[in-house]
Amino acid sequence: MQNFEESLYNSFEKYKEKSLKIRRFKQKDILPLIQKLPFENMVVGHSYEGREIIKVALGQGKRKILLWSQMHGNEATATMAIFDIFNFFKEKGVDFQSEKEEILSNLQLHFIPMLNPDGAERFIRYTAQGIDMNRDALRLQCPESRILKDNVGKLKPEFSFNLHDQGTRYSAGISPKQATVSFLATAYNEAREWNEVRIKSRQVIGHLNAVLQNFIPGGIGRFSDEFEPRAFGDNIQKWGSSLILIESGGLVGDLEKQEIRKLNFVAILSALLAISRENYGHFSLQDYENIPQNEKALFDLKIENAQMEGSGGKYMVDLGINIDEKNNPRATNYTHTSVIEDIGDLSVFFGLKTIDAQGAILKPISQFPALVQKYKIKGSTPSQIELGGKASFVIDYKSGQKVILNGKILD
Ligand SMILES: [Zn+2]
Repeated sequence: MQNFEESLYNSFEKYKEKSLKIRRFKQKDILPLIQKLPFENMVVGHSYEGREIIKVALGQGKRKILLWSQMHGNEATATMAIFDIFNFFKEKGVDFQSEKEEILSNLQLHFIPMLNPDGAERFIRYTAQGIDMNRDALRLQCPESRILKDNVGKLKPEFSFNLHDQGTRYSAGISPKQATVSFLATAYNEAREWNEVRIKSRQVIGHLNAVLQNFIPGGIGRFSDEFEPRAFGDNIQKWGSSLILIESGGLVGDLEKQEIRKLNFVAILSALLAISRENYGHFSLQDYENIPQNEKALFDLKIENAQMEGSGGKYMVDLGINIDEKNNPRATNYTHTSVIEDIGDLSVFFGLKTIDAQGAILKPISQFPALVQKYKIKGSTPSQIELGGKASFVIDYKSGQKVILNGKILD
């Protein structure tokens, strides 16, 4: 028999909100979805530019849970999962009836999807004021910050879920394993002490780690718990709500994070059931600390053991290449930009993709007119392979050539 989480994972397609397909959706795309929900919703305030910020509530239990996503406008993965979770609870079929009833009779769920709609409009981290609202928990200069603080203050949730995306190049420990999901039980003071409130965060995270290891073995990281006095997670923990930070990272081949969205769906529902049953208490500090820390040990592409040649002669290098997203003007889509981030002995780092260039020389594309024609390469390509430059060049092996264009391997 499948357990709850496996069944959720396997039946995800049934609940997936199909209108949300890519991360760059806007507030106008979620408003009609909220209006159609059979759950109570209320406008809890307006963004700096006047967009409505809406809270959706369901469940009749006594114990309150607050969940919000996208306080950073370009971190949309959990927002998609929240709409999948709404579909899960609204469906009146026979599946998961007992678990749904259990959750909704014990808990009162309050969701604020897309806390920073102005940032989502531009697909940027910041609010319309250019402020990182996760450093605004004390000054409260963003209306979005005041809304979050207000809701925590009014509801006094037993648990809070702070849902983010992190960079895709974090590794789980110093390893080649990408951190696909990361967790943190935020600290509430400089000494990073464990009180009852914070212990519950780490216990639920222990549970979530055990659940997700089945789907992404080794792909889970733990954020540093250094106290950040200006951040919401740290302050909400201090204000007495057990805060669980979930960060959606990267997974090779999942550019739009649809698999990670599914993992969020499973993880959040699994956490809600565990909380409603209060069966997370057996997870220890050791279980939590066994989750490897997030490290920056990854490049998107690593070229190993290549030869370069310049006026002073030949030498051996590794190249570390990263690829980032650049929004199009209306932030509905993006292009990739690559950069040669590091050159030299990169033996302590890993690549999400790695090419062994043993015996090959790196050369500018312009030296290979036949390849320019073969791959229909348009526009100018760099005439030098240099630190900070664009990653477009040829790996010239004795047996043939491999072309790297804007950080991508052509073949
Ligand atoms: Zn974030």
